[in-house]
Amino acid sequence: MAKKTVRDIDVVGKRVLVRVDFNVPLKDGVVRDDTRIRAALPTIIYLRSQGAKTILTSHLGRPKKQPKEGLVMDPVAARLSELLDVPVKKLDELTGAAVESVVQQMKPGDVVLLENSRFDPREEKNDPSLAAELAGLADVYVDDAFGTAHRAHATTAGVAEHLPAVAGFLVEKELEALDTLVTSPGRPFVVVLGGAKVTDKIGVIEKFLDVADDILVGGAMAFTFFKAQGWSVGTSLVEEDEGVAVAKRILDKAASSYCNLLLPEDVVVAEKAEADAETKVVKADAIPDGWMGLDIGPATAATYAGTIMGADEVFWNGPMGMFEVDAFAAGTKAVAEAMAQCKGMTIVGGGDSVAAVNGFGLADKMAHVSTGGGASLEFIENDGVLPGVTVLQDK
Ligand code: ADP
Ligand code: MG
Repeated sequence: MAKKTVRDIDVVGKRVLVRVDFNVPLKDGVVRDDTRIRAALPTIIYLRSQGAKTILTSHLGRPKKQPKEGLVMDPVAARLSELLDVPVKKLDELTGAAVESVVQQMKPGDVVLLENSRFDPREEKNDPSLAAELAGLADVYVDDAFGTAHRAHATTAGVAEHLPAVAGFLVEKELEALDTLVTSPGRPFVVVLGGAKVTDKIGVIEKFLDVADDILVGGAMAFTFFKAQGWSVGTSLVEEDEGVAVAKRILDKAASSYCNLLLPEDVVVAEKAEADAETKVVKADAIPDGWMGLDIGPATAATYAGTIMGADEVFWNGPMGMFEVDAFAAGTKAVAEAMAQCKGMTIVGGGDSVAAVNGFGLADKMAHVSTGGGASLEFIENDGVLPGVTVLQDK
């Protein structure tokens, strides 16, 4: 990998500030899903083994730039402490005299967790004064939060300008998987795109038209493409105006591209987006008035699964339908199962797509499950350039 990691730098006895992604779901003051905390353990355990003093920083939720009771880091520190089996001190501020004094007293192997970084209004503005204060706490900066690497905030980018900055193991894993995808994907290289909005994903679609062999489109996004072809879409979710214009542009570009852009040939429709609604399968260009497309149909699912299974590299972002409702989950499940069986490099990115794969119990059958939805898309779109990655030292 082109970027230095914690292995490439001396951390023995050093104060190490680690940006982690502990933005976990909470319920009644308890961590409901600790996946993201577990994901940071290899880096923290390594730092402790080196006798480093580990100072962790993360945001949690969207506190609107000021302290919010329900979003303090205490439950996270408690869970981390259980997982590491060592005490983890939670500090009540991000920077300042009290934090400095605790850090001064840290011993090799100690771990502390700073308060929610987004309680400080300077975090999201990447205010240089906050970056300097954070840098003053440590000798080395480690980025182990890929999910926020596309944001230039004080804890993800600003602070790295003041300290030797390297990647943690989680970020290293992400960069390795996505670097190959951007620079030299296995072929055939198949991209599966779904989810809600075309306009969110135009950048990646256009990018992939230049590099992928096949792009398989599903999800609500497909209906905007149908509309752009002049088909009636009933009450399906469509991004009018801008979305349709973008879809037309993409279809034009696809027509003269080597890449195959596949749209669903059939869809599952219902009169309402509810579990007990009556459903039927119709041809993609024959959606009846008053009906809404909520999943790709079985013929499409079979075609897509076949293409995926023959691929050497697959990148998937965005569910094929409203998978949260069982009646509309078959298409998404077919894609997940085909990826699980595919012998090539399989990468899933995106909050909802990853949730779907976890729900089907297929996460460990994928070559890589990206912890950053937005970050992975931006990484691909910008050829590997992300604010939180650029600041890390090159090897
Ligand atoms: P990701 O988080 O994986 O990037 P998105 O956020 O773009 O994915 O989209 C996920 C959402 O899209 C899900 O909530 C899903 O229910 C919704 N969705 C997918 N297909 C449809 C559809 N045909 N109609 C309505 N919603 C859909
Ligand atoms: Mg999402």
